[in-house]
Amino acid sequence: MASVTTVLGPRSADALGLILPHEHVLCDLTPLDLRDSAIADTPITLETAHAVAYRPNDHKGNHRLTQRDIAKAELAAFAKAGGGTIFELSTVGIAPDPAGLRDLSAATGVAIVAGAGFYTAPFVAPEFRAHDVGFLADFIESQIRVGCAGSDVKAGLIGEVGCSWPLVDFERRSLAASAIAHRRTGVSINVHPGRHPQAPHEILDILEANGAAPAGVAISHIDRTYFDYPAMAALAKRGCWLEFDFFGIETSNYWMGVADLPTDWMRLRYIRQAISDGWGDRLLLSHDICTRSRLAAYGGHGYAHLPANVPGLMRDRGFSAAEIAMLMCDNPRRFVCGA
Ligand SMILES: [Zn+2]
Repeated sequence: MASVTTVLGPRSADALGLILPHEHVLCDLTPLDLRDSAIADTPITLETAHAVAYRPNDHKGNHRLTQRDIAKAELAAFAKAGGGTIFELSTVGIAPDPAGLRDLSAATGVAIVAGAGFYTAPFVAPEFRAHDVGFLADFIESQIRVGCAGSDVKAGLIGEVGCSWPLVDFERRSLAASAIAHRRTGVSINVHPGRHPQAPHEILDILEANGAAPAGVAISHIDRTYFDYPAMAALAKRGCWLEFDFFGIETSNYWMGVADLPTDWMRLRYIRQAISDGWGDRLLLSHDICTRSRLAAYGGHGYAHLPANVPGLMRDRGFSAAEIAMLMCDNPRRFVCGA
C-alpha cells in the first residue's frame, strides 16, 4: 500500500480511514475589503449566529480560523464521529499554519495532509505574484520535499490552487507551476475554480498543456459552479475528479453571487446519478469549512457533519454500504495516492 505525506510524516494509505478531502482548520480568509478596515469583529452569539451564517463575508472575524483550542475540540468531534483524515488545503495567501496543524494532529489523532501552492491572486502578496513559472514551480516543489511556511512540515497535496474568473496572469502561472511540481513529485492537485461553468475547462486546458493529466486533478466547489447535471457530466468526461464540498451548507442565499445552491439532498441526487452513469469513482465529498460560523463552537455543523449525518441520508436514498465507503474513504485515498 502506498504511503501519504501527512503533517506528522509518512502514513500508510490504508490507515487514513474516513477522509474529508477539502477543509480548512487554521487559516485566515478575511475578505480583502474587510481585512484592513476599522470595523470591529462581530461577536458570534445566539443572537448573531444566524446573521453571520447567512452573510458570512459581511462579518469581520468570521474568516479567522486561528483559535487552536477550538480547532482541537472540532477535530476531536470529527474523530469521535468516525473521521480519520483531513486534507487541509490552506495555500499561500490565506495564512496557512503547518506547524499548528502538526500540533493539532498530534493532540487529536486526526491525520492531516497539508496543501502546497497559491490561493487566488488578490490574496497573494505582490512579491510572490511577480515571480515566473520556474520560480513558482520550485517553490511548490520545496513545500513538498522540504517544508511549508518556514517549517519542516511537508505538503502531501497541491492546492487548493486559487483561480478567478476570468483567470488573471498570476493564476495562469500558478496553475502552470502546479502542473510542473505535480509532474516532478507525483503529488495530486486540487483547484478552486472561478465562478463560471467554463472555468474548470480552461483550468484543465492549462494544467494539461503543462503535463498534468486530469486523473491527478480535482475540481473543487462543483456545488456552486454547476447547477445542472449535464454540465457536471461533461466535466467528468475529461477524466478529472469532481468535488462536492459544500456539504452542510443548506442556505438558499449564496453570499458570493446569484446561484441556486443545492441542499445535501440535492447534492446526493447528483451523486446518485453519477454513480448510475459510471463515474462515481471520480467524486470527492467535503465541507470546505473556512468560517467560524460553520464550526460547532459557533452554532455550525462542524467537521463531524459528513461522518455523523450524511451516511444516514445516503442510506435513505438507496446508497449501499460499499458506495458510501467508496465516496468517503476509497475515492479520496485514491486521489491523494495519485491513482
Ligand atoms: Zn477551500
